[in-house]
Amino acid sequence: MVPVIALVGRPNVGKSTLFNRLTKTRDAIVAEYAGLTRDRQYGEASWQGRTYIAIDTGGLTGDEEGIDAKMAEQSLLAIEEADVVLFIVDSRDGLTPPDLMIAEHLRKRNKQALLIANKVDTLDPDIARAEFSPLGLGDAIPIAAAHGRGIQAMLEATLGRF
Ligand code: GDP
Ligand code: MG
Repeated sequence: MVPVIALVGRPNVGKSTLFNRLTKTRDAIVAEYAGLTRDRQYGEASWQGRTYIAIDTGGLTGDEEGIDAKMAEQSLLAIEEADVVLFIVDSRDGLTPPDLMIAEHLRKRNKQALLIANKVDTLDPDIARAEFSPLGLGDAIPIAAAHGRGIQAMLEATLGRF
């Protein structure tokens, strides 16, 4: 069985940056601004000799209309397809209302989800952990997708169980 991992979260939290780092391709469009990746994007990657599939998504904002609604639909479909969801939050923005909405959805769907706090570049990881504890998804795993920090620990926590 090839585990499927969906990268889910608000636009601009760094999902595509993480996807590109994991799959080492440039296929996912890394937006310099919110919401450029409109569709699901699959990539193959491996960790410790183990193949897995990563899905990049356009992002969820909680009040979607028009193109945003399509983006949300793709994100929700990716959640359904996934064996495990990496729920990405932005430690520089802190906790936002859409984050709470996404956490609620994951709980409702009874999805295995790991909370990933991205953009912990110079920030104290403990501060990131505390910030997101109201989401009720356990301790956030601190990473910096743009710099490759924390990725191995994240993959261990994600794929170690398969
Ligand atoms: P997406 O909308 O969730 O796919 O987010 P993107 O991957 O397009 O990234 C949004 C912005 O966040 C881009 O400007 C990235 O360069 C930036 N970004 C991604 N990861 C990090 C990180 O670890 N640290 C910092 N400071 N910026 C990051
Ligand atoms: Mg993106």
